[in-house]
This record gives sequence, C-alpha cells and structure tokens, in this order.
Amino acid sequence: MLAYLYQLCLVVFLLQGFTLPLLPAVSGALWWRLSRRLEALRGELQADRRKGAETDEAFGRMLARLPKLRPLNCESCGGAVLLREDATLCPYCGARGRPPEDYAAALRLKAEAERLLKSAVRHWRVANLLTHPLARWTFLLLIFAEPLVLFPAVVVGSNVFPDAPLDRAFAALGEGWAFLLMLSSFLGFVVWMVVFIFLAGLSKSLRVKLPVVPVFEGAARGRETASCQACGGAVEYDAGAFACLCGYCNVENFRARFVRRERVRAERQGASAGSALFGAAEIIEEFLGTFFFVLLFLAVASILLTLFLAFKKLL
Ligand SMILES: [Zn+2]
Ligand SMILES: [Zn+2]
Repeated sequence: MLAYLYQLCLVVFLLQGFTLPLLPAVSGALWWRLSRRLEALRGELQADRRKGAETDEAFGRMLARLPKLRPLNCESCGGAVLLREDATLCPYCGARGRPPEDYAAALRLKAEAERLLKSAVRHWRVANLLTHPLARWTFLLLIFAEPLVLFPAVVVGSNVFPDAPLDRAFAALGEGWAFLLMLSSFLGFVVWMVVFIFLAGLSKSLRVKLPVVPVFEGAARGRETASCQACGGAVEYDAGAFACLCGYCNVENFRARFVRRERVRAERQGASAGSALFGAAEIIEEFLGTFFFVLLFLAVASILLTLFLAFKKLL
C-alpha cells in the first residue's frame, strides 16, 4: 500500500519535471490567443456603445413613424410574395427579392446574440471555477502538499523501497540521465509551488470581477389580431412572429414596427452578452498570463543562476 503511494508520488514528481518545458509554450499560446480575442471584443463593445447613444425618446418617435403592418408585394408583378429566411419569393412569377432590411438585421443580430451568450456562459463557468473559494483552498492546499507530502514521500520512499520498478528503471538509465531527470523534477517541484502561490492570490482577488451573465427572456407568446393591409380581412398571428399571412388574400403582412423593436432588442442583448463574455474572458486571461509569466520568469532566473554558477567555477 505504502509502496504504491510512493510510486504515485514519484510519478507526479517526475511528471512535474517532464511537463516543465511544455507548460510555458502551451500556456503562452493560449494566453496570446485569448488576449487577441479580448482586444477584438473590446473594439466591438466600444463601437456598440457609440451606436447605443441614441436616446429611447428618439427611438420611440422613429418607431411611431413605422407602419404596424406592411403588405409585401412582388417588385416585378405586384403579386403577394412569401417571406423566407434570406429572401422573398413570388409564387406567381418566381422572382426572388430582398427581404425588408430590419428583418434580415433582426435575424442576424438574434443569432449573434445567442452565439455570444453561449460563449459567455462557457467562459463564465471556467472563470467561476477558477475564482471559486474551493479553487482557492485547493491551490493553498497544493502549496503545502508539495513540500510537506510529495517531496518527503519521494525522499523517504526511495530509501524504504529501493527496489520499486521505477527505481530499477532509473538505475538502468545510467547515472547521467537519472541525475538530469531528478534535477528537472526538482525544478518542476519548486516551479509548481511558486505557481500555486500566485494562483491562490489571483483566485481571491479576481472573484469580485466575475460578471453576471444576462438572462434573455423569450419573446412574449400569445396571439394577436389585426386587419390585413391588402384586403382588410382579419389576420391572427403569433405574438412573436415577424410576419403574418392573410387567410383571405394570401398577402404576407410584414410587422414593420415589431421587427424594428426586435432588432434593437437583439442589438442590446448582444451588447450585454458581449460585455459578460469580456468580463469572464478577462479573468481567464489573467490566470493564463500569470501562469505563463511566472513560468517564464522562473525559467530565465534558473538559466541565469546556472550561468552564474558555471562562471564562478571557471574563475
Ligand atoms: Zn412576381
Ligand atoms: Zn388580406
């Protein structure tokens, strides 16, 4: 039982050494990618804020000028056209036309806001995990586990169980390689301890920056009635629908005012999802950046120390 524990500790100890050159490369690449994304997001958010300066009052006046319902007719033959996702289709002459501008924009912005929200939730989960008190305690525990559990276990274990399979593999490697392996593992042990100290501090200080992820309520459900703009007949439609087809004359009535409002709503939802994403990604970026720069600093420091010792020996 104890022999297994020793072997497990030794594997962890060696892994810390093995992964030492990989970690700065991986964390550096991830950090770089995320900070580029944050930069792009910052630009988008600033552009959104400038656009959103339009007052609610001006928006209300503009909205009032739009017709509630507008019949959609074919540009070529004047017949009633059907509204499709990316075009209007005339069933009489087969001509395809451009859908109303607000319609295309509202659909696009809605999809964009949903995509941003999904991404924000994903990043928020990671940021929440990293800044959770449980994570902080784990980091603190690991700081002490390194010198108080892992290191003694490896040292004591190698004396008590000198004939463990890993020790035999060590002996087979030859003295030079075994020494190098042990040296890198010892370096890894020191590096991880320092990294955990930094991460524990970061976890505590970044908790307050965790953003609130917005919840988008679905469009109001229910049915509404109005009169068809082409024939005057009664049309009934879903409260969230962008257009309604008249059952009497088959003309599609486009809900111009509603769609404009939906377009602006989607724009605002996209902006709030974007800023939540930004806040969460910023926390992850700080973790990655700290991890990377601490590793980099320790690597440079140990190289300088080695050079210094080598020079001192020469002189
Ligand atoms: Zn037509
Ligand atoms: Zn009609």
